Parts: sequence; C-alpha cells; structure tokens
Amino acid sequence: MKQRILVVGGGSGGTIVANRLAGHLSSEIRSGDVEVVVINETSYQLYKPLTLYMAFGQNEESEAKRPVRDLLNKDVCFIQDRGVNLDLDSKELELASGKSLSYDYLVLATGSKLAPNRVPGLKEGGHHFYGPKGSNELREELAEFEAGHLVVSVVGVPHMCPVAPMEFSFIADNWFRERDLRDDVKITYTFPGEEMIGKENIVDWATPLLEERDINLKSGFEVTEVDPDEKVLKSSEDEEMEYDLLVSIPPHRGDDLVTRADLGEGEWVETDQHSLEAERAEDVYAIGDATDLPTSMAGSVAHYESGVVAARLASQIRGEVPTARYDGKTICFIDGVDGNKATFLSFNYGEEPDIPPESKLIHWAKHSYNKAYWLTAKGLL
Ligand SMILES: Cc1cc2nc3c(=O)[nH]c(=O)nc-3n(C[C@H](O)[C@H](O)[C@H](O)COP(=O)(O)OP(=O)(O)OC[C@H]3O[C@@H](n4cnc5c(N)ncnc54)[C@H](O)[C@@H]3O)c2cc1C
Repeated sequence: MKQRILVVGGGSGGTIVANRLAGHLSSEIRSGDVEVVVINETSYQLYKPLTLYMAFGQNEESEAKRPVRDLLNKDVCFIQDRGVNLDLDSKELELASGKSLSYDYLVLATGSKLAPNRVPGLKEGGHHFYGPKGSNELREELAEFEAGHLVVSVVGVPHMCPVAPMEFSFIADNWFRERDLRDDVKITYTFPGEEMIGKENIVDWATPLLEERDINLKSGFEVTEVDPDEKVLKSSEDEEMEYDLLVSIPPHRGDDLVTRADLGEGEWVETDQHSLEAERAEDVYAIGDATDLPTSMAGSVAHYESGVVAARLASQIRGEVPTARYDGKTICFIDGVDGNKATFLSFNYGEEPDIPPESKLIHWAKHSYNKAYWLTAKGLL
C-alpha cells in the first residue's frame, strides 16, 4: 500500500525536507509506493530574512516571495490549505477546507507567528520589521524620521533570528549617519534579559561595537505595556521609557495546530534534540521554528534539520534503522557592522561560536546567499 509522508508548512524547512525526500525516495515515489505531500496555507513562501532589508528599501517584497509549487520537486504534491486539527491516533490531518488527509509519517514545519496582541498597546504603538506589511510601514516611518528617540525593543523571547535586532540597530545607525541626521537621533536597544543574546562571546563582541556607534543598551527591560498616545514603554519593573519611533520584536507564538494536538507544554512541539521526533506522538517529526529545541529560530537550523529528517524517513520507509542525527548545527551572519561589514558564526549544541573579524567580504557573502536562497529551498544547495 502507498505510504504517505505529509509535511505541514511550506516555508524554509518544509520545502527543503520535501525536496530532499523526493531525492532519497525517487524510485519509491515513481513506482507509486510513496507519496510526499506538502500543505501550506498560502500559495507562496516568504523568505523572511529579506524583511529586515525591506524596512530600509534595500529589498522589495516581490524578491521575498515565490510560489511554493515552483520551489518543490515535481514529484512532490502540493496542496494550498491550512491544517486545523490533528488526530494523532487515527493519523489524520483535518484541513480548513473541510477535507482531511491521512498520513503514515508527519513532518511539522509550521514555523512561528507574531503575537503583538499579547502586550497591550504594542500593535498600536509600535512598528516592526518581522513581516512584509510591518516592514513596508516601517520603511515609510524611517523615510520621514529626522530627529528623536528610536527605540529598538525586544519584547518577546524566543524570537526569529536572535541577532536581527542587533543588525537592525547597526543598519539604522548607518542609515541616519548617511543622511547627516545621526546627531539628532538617539538610538536605544532594549532586551528583557541580562544579556542581549544567549551566547556570551557574541555579547562580548557586539557590546563595544554598539557602544562605539552610540547605540544605548538597556538590559533587563521586559516590556509589559505600551502607551501609544503618550509614546511610552512600561516595564515589569515599573520603569518607563519615552520613544518617538518604536521598532519592536513582537512576541512569537506557535501554530494552533500544535497547541490543539497537545504536542508540547506550550505552543512548541516537544522534540527530541537529535532524532527530531516529536516526544508525544508516533511517526511525527518537527523541524524549524515549530520545535522547543535549545537552538536559534533560524532558517539555517530548519535547513540542517531537514536533511536529518529526510534521511531518517528514507531509512524508515526502506525498513532500515534510521541513524541520522542533528547536532544543533547553526550558521548565522551578523550584518550591518560599520554599514557594510558582517561577520559569520557557526556552532552546534553546547559549542560557543568563533567570531571572525567583520569584513566587507562576509557582508557580500550574506547578500549573495540571500539571492541564492531560492536554490537552497529547491534543495539544490
Ligand atoms: C527579520 C528576520 C530576519 C531573519 N534573518 C535570518 C537570517 O539571517 N538567517 C537565518 O538563518 N534565519 C533568519 N530568520 C529566521 C528564519 O526566517 C526562520 O527561522 C525560518 O523561516 C524558519 O523556517 P520554518 O520552516 O520553521 O518556518 P517558516 O519559514 O516560517 O515556514 C512555516 C510555513 O508554514 C505555514 N504554516 C504554518 N501553520 C500552518 C498550518 N497550520 N497549515 C498550513 N501551513 C501552515 C506558514 O504559512 C509558512 O509558510 C529571520 C527571520 C526574520 C523574521
């Protein structure tokens, strides 16, 4: 009987895992023994890293979107629909259209979503660069902002790309310098924890660079409320901070599908850190931002995890023991230093990254990667 591998989510992780499966299992798919199906709620995939640059007019929304169907191997089936309920006993996924699909193996690649409503006043009082709509609106604000207090505030943790607020602060600093406005713009970067990021040597590297650029760092500032009329941020310690332009990193949430199926303590899938199997369900894997793993919410994580899950599923389909393991591999660029320099980090579980000196070459490597990303999604890189 034909075995179906169902992938929910056609973002970075979902398309890469499906394309890798099509490579591993091409003969089984062509002989009709295996089917790989991707479900995505939109017809297109959004390449989220470009929304940082969209806010500064350096990339356009059209560059950040591609039809999911065009990214998938022709042997992979694509259905545009939304998964709404999972029956883990009968192995069935109910779709928003009313249809349902059974599966033999399920891969959850549902990513994370923004939840600004969790903090009163945040949606009305702040802007963000974490999605195309937010970035386009922020672009208009930045184009008109000539003086005042710009606050870049990490409101929700965990959030996608832990270094993105730092990159935004560097790029914003350069943006105002190029326009001869920097003396009139005060920049503050706030974060809720003691450190701006979980990796100590990134903190040691970034702190003097941010201070040199006159970017004020405010640690332990957990935003609990925003007053959009008075333009004031309020913290859990009853501190207040006035702003003229607020750029927040809103709280993130997992997909309702995960919560309804009780796949984790909260809204993230409880996942084995090496096998990537869901802890609370049989024949279910989770990758990317949807998991509760101690990794970054990063496309590179979704990418490396996809390779592991595809290899394990191919082994299982063939009746072999799955041996592929994820070691926490993460790579990450930090861009915007001195305007057009970047550095590059690579690490895994428990390993601190080495930080090479920032350079123009690495900056151009990041931008080249952004252009080549669609080849990665297609499984060609
Ligand atoms: C501003 C910004 C900058 C970033 N920069 C970097 C960077 O430089 N490097 C890096 O590695 N990462 C970066 N990231 C993070 C990276 O984009 C994410 O970690 C990555 O997209 C996660 O991949 P994913 O497949 O888990 O989720 P996503 O790519 O978000 O895909 C999830 C997909 O699932 C779909 N979906 C969700 N629920 C359902 C459902 N119930 N039914 C059907 N479809 C569903 C969604 O519509 C979406 O298409 C950045 C993110 C942002 C916002």
